[in-house]
Order: sequence, then structure tokens, then C-alpha cells
Amino acid sequence: MTDSAMIDQFGRRVEYLRISVTDKCNLRCVYCMPMEGLPWLKREELLSYEEIAQIVGTMTDMGLRRVRITGGEPLVRKDLPDLVSMISKVPEIEDLSLSTNAVLLAEKADALRNAGIQRLNVSLDSLRADRVDSIARRPGSYPKIMEGLDAAAAAGFAPIKINVVLIRGQNEDEIEDFAEITRERPWHVRFIEMMPTGANLDLSANQFISCTEALRRIERIESIEPVQGPFGNGPARYYQFKGAPGTIGVITPMSHNYCDRCNRMRLTADGQLRPCLFGATQTNLRDPLRAGEDLVPHIQETLKIKPERHQLIQGSDLGSGGLIALSQTGG
Ligand code: SAM
Ligand code: SF4
Repeated sequence: MTDSAMIDQFGRRVEYLRISVTDKCNLRCVYCMPMEGLPWLKREELLSYEEIAQIVGTMTDMGLRRVRITGGEPLVRKDLPDLVSMISKVPEIEDLSLSTNAVLLAEKADALRNAGIQRLNVSLDSLRADRVDSIARRPGSYPKIMEGLDAAAAAGFAPIKINVVLIRGQNEDEIEDFAEITRERPWHVRFIEMMPTGANLDLSANQFISCTEALRRIERIESIEPVQGPFGNGPARYYQFKGAPGTIGVITPMSHNYCDRCNRMRLTADGQLRPCLFGATQTNLRDPLRAGEDLVPHIQETLKIKPERHQLIQGSDLGSGGLIALSQTGG
């Protein structure tokens, strides 16, 4: 590692990069992407896999140790295992994971595993096919997601984390069902508080549920114990029913902020390095990279502007920095 380790002005060491490989998606989750989609990036604006690998290489010299591939939906980008192979060959990268909606996972699980993805996070907001249709707004997705999850288990992925965004009136009555499934399957079900973006203001103002409420509902079934949780637990806090193979996690960006422990930055599909999920601060790495410049000063600049905390306000896009959807930054 060079002496340019990634430590910000608040003493937080950055060792984790979330890389968005596309802004496109094959679903239209109500809390994320508008039905009509977004103004998509042009092909030439996207970083190539070689360019992404170059940025990972530079950041590795500065202390990067963990990478997550995300999107939009990363599996809609062609030849994703090629990028996975490039990153997994970097010896310093100790952990390489992927976030996906799993619609295309059945056909790709083996190739991704062979290329070097170690862990998967899968978004699944309901255990009922008709509800997945109304939340993800691409009918017929549920059976494909379940096939994808089975294929992931068969390919040897473990742990498998399931991300559930809480939406009042749409999946709150399934909180108990999701908790119960951790007694049957080795799934780590994580409830996520909905964050406000330009595209979901109505929903986040009127249909927000806190994780405190989710935990209260689960405690009514049977008491749960706080546990360490699976590897790569990030900001989630975990609980478990006695003897269950899986765990129940909560991710609370709205009710309990965890910015003081933030160890990550984000790289958008068009090569903007974002020091925080929200806010307008970002640094263009793509153009200096294409001009053959040294990226280290640009990365150091981004660290300097990493905010102390996000400024999200329930039901308002003030603080989101003009972000329309998390699919634009990788969530
Ligand atoms: N398409 C992939 C997926 O859905 O897993 C990866 C990208 S998605 C933007 C990453 C994560 O962000 C998902 O778990 C999704 O549920 C979550 N997410 C998207 N919009 C959100 C919001 N407004 N509030 C909270 N979580 C959100
Ligand atoms: Fe697509 Fe993921 Fe956003 Fe859903 S949360 S619309 S699957 S990017």
C-alpha cells in the first residue's frame, strides 16, 4: 500500500467500493425506478470493464480490500463474469460480492461463482408472486427470482442475503413471514428502511415503515437474540430465532444513522466516484482516466469532500442531491 491510504477528514478509513456497472434495470421497483425508466447513459459514457479494473487497481494501492458489483441490475450488462474475473485476480481484494434482483440469476449463477463472486445479496420484497408483480412492476418475475435463488444455493453461494425494503400497505404484513423463513432456510433476511429519492417522494412520505416497528412485530412471534451476523455485515444489525439457520437483519438509514462507521465509496456506471450515497458531491474519474492522468489525486480529492453524514429528510428530496433513484448510484 502507498502512503496515500484512503482516510477521510473524520478519520474513517475507506476500504470498500460499490461499483455500479449499469444504470439500466429489468425491473421497476416502486421505491426505486420510475415506470418509464430514466434517461439512460450512452454507451460511450459507461466505463468499460478494463477501465473499471484500472480504477480498482489504483484504489487497491490505496487500501481498497472489498468490492461489491451492483447497478441498476448488474446482470443485464453483457459478459459480467469477465469483469468479475478481472477483479477477483487482484490479490488484495479479499471480498467480492454482487447485488442483484435475481431475475437472470438462474442462467448466470455458475459462471459468476466460477469467475469469483463470493457472496450474493438478492432483493426480494415479497414472498407472494402477485405482490412481487405489483412492487417490481414487471409481471412474471417471481418464479424467475425463486429459480435464481435455488441456482445460487446449488452453485454454492453462502451466505445469501435477502434485502426487503419495507413498504407500508404493500409488504408490512409479510414481516413475520420473512422472519419465519429464516427458521427454514439459511437466509439472512435484512429489512431496509426506504430512503427518499426524487422518484419516490410520495411513497417515502406516506408508506415508510421503520425497522423498529418490524422488530416489534417479530418479537411478538418469539423473542430474538442479537447476533454477530454473516460476514460482510456492514451497517446491518442482526438477530436470530433460537436454533434458526438464518438471521434477521435491519438496515436503518433513516431511524438510526450509521455514517460515523462508513467505510465505503461508490463508483457510478459513468465513472463518477461518490463519497456518499446521497448528496451532490462526486468526482469525475472517467475523463482523467481516459486522458491518461494519475487518478490518485482525484481519489484523494473525493476523500476530502466525504461528508460527515447524509442529510436525508423523510419524504423530501432535499439532501438527496438531486438523485432520482438509487439505481443511478448503485444503492
Ligand atoms: N438491482 C439490484 C438489486 O435490486 O438488488 C442492485 C441495485 S439496487 C439499487 C440495490 C439495493 O438498493 C436493493 O436492495 C434495493 O432494494 C435498494 N433500494 C433501492 N431504492 C431504495 C430506496 N429508495 N430505499 C431503500 N433501499 C433502496
Ligand atoms: Fe432495479 Fe434494483 Fe432498482 Fe429494483 S431496486 S428497480 S431491481 S435497480
